[in-house]
Amino acid sequence: MPAIRLRSPVMFAGAFVLLAVLYATYFDVAVRTNARAATDRFHTLVDLGAPRRAAKHGERAIALSLKAGATGDQLAPLKAAVAETQTARRDYQRAADLLKEALTAKWGQSLPTIERIEFEDRLARAYLLNGDLERATAIYTTFLDLAGDAAAIPEDTDVDATAKLHADKLVGAADAFLRVVNHAEPRTLTGATPEHTLASATQLADLGGFYGMREGEEYAAAGLLATAYQARKRIRGVDHQDTVQLTLMLGPLYTKMGRLHDAEALYLEAFHAQERSKGANSPDLSLYIKLLAGVYEKQERFTEAQALYEHMRRLFRDAFGEQRYSVNRNIDRRENINRPVSQHFPLDASYAPRDLVSAAEFFVPTAKVPNIDEMKLRLAADRDSDAREENLPARLAQLISLCRSESDDAISLRSGYRSYRTQAVLHDRNGARGTVTPPGVSEHQTGLAADINVDSRFMRQSDRAFQCFEENAFRFGFILSYPPGNDYLPGKDSYEPWHWRYVGIQTAQLYREAGPYNRPQEFLAALPCFQERAASGVFPTAGEHDICLDGAQTKLAEVSATQPVREQSGAARILNDW
Ligand SMILES: [Zn+2]
Repeated sequence: MPAIRLRSPVMFAGAFVLLAVLYATYFDVAVRTNARAATDRFHTLVDLGAPRRAAKHGERAIALSLKAGATGDQLAPLKAAVAETQTARRDYQRAADLLKEALTAKWGQSLPTIERIEFEDRLARAYLLNGDLERATAIYTTFLDLAGDAAAIPEDTDVDATAKLHADKLVGAADAFLRVVNHAEPRTLTGATPEHTLASATQLADLGGFYGMREGEEYAAAGLLATAYQARKRIRGVDHQDTVQLTLMLGPLYTKMGRLHDAEALYLEAFHAQERSKGANSPDLSLYIKLLAGVYEKQERFTEAQALYEHMRRLFRDAFGEQRYSVNRNIDRRENINRPVSQHFPLDASYAPRDLVSAAEFFVPTAKVPNIDEMKLRLAADRDSDAREENLPARLAQLISLCRSESDDAISLRSGYRSYRTQAVLHDRNGARGTVTPPGVSEHQTGLAADINVDSRFMRQSDRAFQCFEENAFRFGFILSYPPGNDYLPGKDSYEPWHWRYVGIQTAQLYREAGPYNRPQEFLAALPCFQERAASGVFPTAGEHDICLDGAQTKLAEVSATQPVREQSGAARILNDW
């Protein structure tokens, strides 16, 4: 009866090895056939820091789970985790597929915002590393929209965490973008249709603008913008305004990077394009002449620069002679630049200005990517001409330039045009904080208002730049819309020392000389009365303000009595006729 007995350490070890082999075999079979075991194995390897080995088990776990009847939604978190390991294996295509499946599942849709941003960033990056510039750009462009102020003003503390995170992710993606676009030749966009390619080009330009404003990321910016430029050139042609417009973003970047040769070539191309489409004598050429001359100066080609400046002056002289600004009240009224806007004078949702232009084109320093809506302003030209200096943005540029030299403050446009819809979105998003004006009540919808930044934050009353604005803005047609103690915007304190609004030089001067101190909206509502009195040579004195203002109040009261102002129809309709 030879019972099995463990007689020696050798036998003991042998039995142990046997058991281990049996176990390992069982386990190996299990991870091959059992979804749960494969999933466990996957997680163990991830925990052990072996993601590349984990990937194989993860994929098997997904396949086995599917076979066992798991739904796409149940599998979503596993897919997201496996995507990480595929990224570690540099299988970016597979990583992107898995992440996309996970994010479009119910699981992905209901992730907390912060986590969702993390996964979207990973997906975009997987696309990027897989060379899919278009898909990555589409995602990062939405990040750019959602980052808002956080993207434009990195030092700004007054932004919410979600916006900040979007901005941070964008910054983090710069290197990945650089890897894709950093070639001697711009990368070719290959959209499904020309429209698709053009849409991608616009997104690339937006992102390029974002990176272009950040120190040290000019290379990624230039690559993105050059790619967008080539795409537009190919599809729209070199003369198209959308193509030419990009030279205004790319050229300054090349100049900053010291690529003066490239900047010169680009400006020459734009100059000739404008020459072809607008004629050799068009004053519109002056912008490109000025930019080109700037490059020549940097290259110390002073004679050529001088000749260009002379040519520019000639263009202006030939186009406009010696005429200066002349008052034309009718045009002011037709273009509606004197319309008051406040909670008492709301705008229709349908109101949108028709002459928006990019402020940067008129040399207004912008705090954000120059081609977005928010960096646009109305042209509000003095008359039907393209005089490049007799309009809102040109005058704002002059005012900023004056106050910059007087104060040494860095002054820029933080916010210009905002559509009714944009204002509604902002208001909804910030509703709880109550710092954003409701739609229809903001002057930004007119494209006439400019929020001014000083040193990357809102202008304050204590800024030297503010003193300069207060003393000089009226000379350029601007007034302070929301002075201390006003009730123009809903909320307890509507004083906005950063918010300046264009009313034209004549009206701004009249307000300064004859208007009721610190009641600009009432003044605008009663403007015809003030104009009449000014025309008769009798400026209303302090007491007489009431004559004009009372009239306006009565008129408004009549409207309000029959039609509540909240419905934004009665008063708005009358005022929109102005
Ligand atoms: Zn404002």
